[in-house]
Amino acid sequence: MKLQDFPQEIRGSILPKPGGKIIYRCLSCNEEFGIEKLLYTCPSCGQVLLLHDMEFDRLKQRTPEEWRKILDYRKMSNEPAVSGIYRYHEFIGPIVPLDCVVYLGEGHTPLVEAGKQLQEKAGGRFFYKNDGQNPSASFKDRGMASALSYINFLIKSGLVKDVLAVCASTGDTSASAALYASYLQPDIKSAVLLPHGKVTPQQLGQPLGAGAQVFEIPGVFDDCMKVVEALAENYNVALLNSKNAWRILGQESYSYELAQDFDYDMSSKVIFVPIGNAGNITAIMSGFLKFYRCGIIDALPKVVGVQSHHADPVYKYYLEPDEDKRKFVPVTVEPSVAQAAMIGNPVSMPRVISLVRDYNEQSGKKNVFVVQVTEQEIMDWQLTANRFGHVACTQGGECLAGMTAALKQGVMDSSETAVLDSTAHALKFSGFQEMYFDDAFPPEFGVTPKPELQNRPVLVRPADLEKVPAPGKPLEREEFERFVERTSQDIAEKLNLSPRE
Ligand SMILES: *Cc1c(COP(=O)(O)O)cnc(C)c1O
Ligand SMILES: [Zn+2]
Repeated sequence: MKLQDFPQEIRGSILPKPGGKIIYRCLSCNEEFGIEKLLYTCPSCGQVLLLHDMEFDRLKQRTPEEWRKILDYRKMSNEPAVSGIYRYHEFIGPIVPLDCVVYLGEGHTPLVEAGKQLQEKAGGRFFYKNDGQNPSASFKDRGMASALSYINFLIKSGLVKDVLAVCASTGDTSASAALYASYLQPDIKSAVLLPHGKVTPQQLGQPLGAGAQVFEIPGVFDDCMKVVEALAENYNVALLNSKNAWRILGQESYSYELAQDFDYDMSSKVIFVPIGNAGNITAIMSGFLKFYRCGIIDALPKVVGVQSHHADPVYKYYLEPDEDKRKFVPVTVEPSVAQAAMIGNPVSMPRVISLVRDYNEQSGKKNVFVVQVTEQEIMDWQLTANRFGHVACTQGGECLAGMTAALKQGVMDSSETAVLDSTAHALKFSGFQEMYFDDAFPPEFGVTPKPELQNRPVLVRPADLEKVPAPGKPLEREEFERFVERTSQDIAEKLNLSPRE
């Protein structure tokens, strides 16, 4: 819709102007820092930071009704800057002018209710939110659009130049970082560090395709992360991991979209999210809290983090019911099909601890949970979802496995509705499906295929045919007719087809 066609009282709010006052705040010593420089950890004490809008309360000057109306009308605007995560500009990056916003088509991913049969099988009502339908095929694009829009703003303001963006990745962060950086050539170049042999071929192909410098490092993600942290500490680079608090702001859009998708009714909703480096669950809690504070939603949904038993430090942390006795201990990860979440020492753990406390407090009850699932359950549920019309990645399978665990443990009950985050596109992880179908999982995964979920192609080549077609070598007419007849007969036999009357 054209700007002049919006109702008079809304028109001025469709394209937001820069506002607010954003600062970095340390989660440990509470010290605050300006945002003119890119900071990742507190210069005083080394802890991770979060971004705060010192003037957040100005957003409460609008009534919840006004906010909902503005956001719903913005949906009708074709202006690129408010077509992605910056539809929620005031909550995500209020200081960023719209002409600095980088929009590659991220956000507003489909929310699809599971079919009746799948819901019955899983034992509860649920939706998948297909975050694999982002530009680089994972939710990481939400955070990257925010981080890169901000860096773009710094560049345009002359505060930084010739940025080298770096990140460590379990695959999707680097795919996303490389894509967004390449869009901003030549001002930004990117380099990514990947654990050698621990990302899928598709994920490796993505940053290579976007022209990033790709470095493979021995070890697992946690090792890569240490190297990247050393680079960010000692050299002039822009860190694009979720340690970068701008990433968190962008990923809050997931919560805002869900609120809008459910017409702002978040009561009786349970949000399932896989936990790796814990940036996403941080953002999801933070997003719902902001909307709640402004009254845009009047209930905070339950949030359930899911971890594989092969990478479950956050689950283990919350096993201890007594808050004072909890102690965070990093774990050594074992191979996981939820490879994008295969992290033993999540960078955002201090953020999680602080936000879970806040979230439960605001909810007036325990409202954040973490459940643990097995590798076997992840694969079985991922494939089952696919069998019933849902393309979920392995992490999406992890969420569905997590929902069944939550139902069993009474963390969720049958009156509630779940939303499962399928955080990436299934095709990135098709190698695991292949291993399942071929019963070729290395023993460390502990996955034994269920025959009813396996599937294989069948080669049809009737033995009595002397010749079959080959590329560049078509058959003669009679030979070809025989080929078509015999091959269709064979298929009909295999499918048990009855002939037409
Ligand atoms: C990064 C990633 C995760 C883990 O998210 P965190 O924010 O690191 O907890 C899960 N699934 C996919 C597909 C990812 O790319
Ligand atoms: Zn500090």
